[in-house]
Amino acid sequence: MAKRKSSRKAVRTILALLIVIVLAVVSYFTEPWQYLTGDKNKIGSITEASVTDLQVHYIDVGQADSILIRIPTENGTKNMLIDAGTSEGYPASNIENYLNGLGITELEYLIITHPHLDHIGAADEVIADFDIQNIILPECEASTQSWLRVLSAMEEKELTYIPSEAGKTYTIGEASFTILGPVDAAAVDPDDANNYSVVVRLDFGETSFLFTGDAETASEEEMLARFPASDFKCNVLKVGHHGSTTSTSDAFLSACDPDLAVISCGKGNSYGHPHKETLDKLEAVGIPVLRTDEEGTIVLCSDKKEVSRLTAD
Ligand SMILES: [Zn+2]
Repeated sequence: MAKRKSSRKAVRTILALLIVIVLAVVSYFTEPWQYLTGDKNKIGSITEASVTDLQVHYIDVGQADSILIRIPTENGTKNMLIDAGTSEGYPASNIENYLNGLGITELEYLIITHPHLDHIGAADEVIADFDIQNIILPECEASTQSWLRVLSAMEEKELTYIPSEAGKTYTIGEASFTILGPVDAAAVDPDDANNYSVVVRLDFGETSFLFTGDAETASEEEMLARFPASDFKCNVLKVGHHGSTTSTSDAFLSACDPDLAVISCGKGNSYGHPHKETLDKLEAVGIPVLRTDEEGTIVLCSDKKEVSRLTAD
């Protein structure tokens, strides 16, 4: 009898342990990874020309940035591009081919964050080859060949630009985006061109995405001084400056408080991006990271309530 009792007790203990393990595993995978397990079939194929959910494509452009945003509206899909950077092995044609592959001929907005090649290398060709309704860029002092090419591409098509203005909100269908930085482009030191970076929060329903270009700590501090921390709260943070330690200060990260971080960087890049300190900082607060050097192009989508990851079939 005593033997049977103790074996029953052992079975109960094992069962209890199993339940604890299952619960631990389930909670590990549901928070915050639940945001990444959305039904990819819900919005169809990645190559579909019109979309029903908002999509954010962190295009793999090596050690550079280029982010395509596709917004469903009553008048069809509107497209927006933040940066068109090039890097070694990732020529301008990569971005053009990507947009062409999605059947895109028109951009509602082109936002150029700042005048560095890894953010503007393909911008002149994109301006030349696509119909662009609005171009937003920071008023900046730059005289590099690549920047002059961007300005002359605009001139060629008789396009003017909207100077970025912190605090300004633009609406596209049911989505909107707000410019948070630079707070004062005229005050940025031209030798610190990363701090010209146009920082944008995109809102769609209850979800939001933050795009930071290469904005560094100085710009982060100015933005936090100008706007309440809640303005930076987002589901997904595009980590500033390819994951360099020069960005993502503790105060900025805590204001953003994202569920997921995305880093755009090139495999084996000479800058060592993303820096270990930045990755450690994200890990310490339990924020999962997706990197273009590991994953290639990363596509996230939002149904206004949740952000999911869309993977190609
Ligand atoms: Zn950069």
